[in-house]
Amino acid sequence: MSDLHPVTDIHPDIDRILISQEEINARIAELGAQISADYQGEELLLVCILKGAFVFMADLARAITVPVQTGFIAVSSYGHSTQSSGVVRIMKDLDQSVEGQNVLIVEDIVDTGLTLAYIASLLHDRHPKSLKICALTNKPQCRKKEVTIDYCGFVLPNEFVVGYGLDYQDYYRNLPYIGVLKPSRYAQSHG
Ligand code: 5GP
Repeated sequence: MSDLHPVTDIHPDIDRILISQEEINARIAELGAQISADYQGEELLLVCILKGAFVFMADLARAITVPVQTGFIAVSSYGHSTQSSGVVRIMKDLDQSVEGQNVLIVEDIVDTGLTLAYIASLLHDRHPKSLKICALTNKPQCRKKEVTIDYCGFVLPNEFVVGYGLDYQDYYRNLPYIGVLKPSRYAQSHG
């Protein structure tokens, strides 16, 4: 029998793990309990910001006990760079109306805040009953636009991270933890 455990072993391109799978699971259980208590007796529309938040949203949705519906919105990303271009474009809009609904935006990471500020303002103009933000991770040092994060999983240092939905060139989203890429991985792709 093979002794290779591809899901649990650290990926060869990863320098170090910042947040383990166990820590993520435990924090999501806490967030789910808090959100369920805050929306007791209400229904909730979870709005996933694609692509990065799809892993987080799948786990968060299952940690929430009030009735939820789900919506998906895709925005332009950094492309193949690790720096924000500051340009936010809607690539795929929601399929449903948010009018009169309790909307909870689900995001993987808040960096400059430009993406969330744009999406929050867009959804606010569609007259939801309430509008809140849940972000798994937050890099507060990088903020260009202030956003209120109502539910935050973890605060991160100013480093480019991958895993648990977060990508580099669309890879590494399937890693069950959040980690930092080895510098050689960037050198390879730029060279
Ligand atoms: P913001 O608009 O707040 O600068 O950026 C939000 C988006 O940028 C996130 O949804 C994510 O796609 C991307 N992003 C920001 N920081 C990181 C990071 O450290 N790693 C990865 N993989 N993506 C990031």
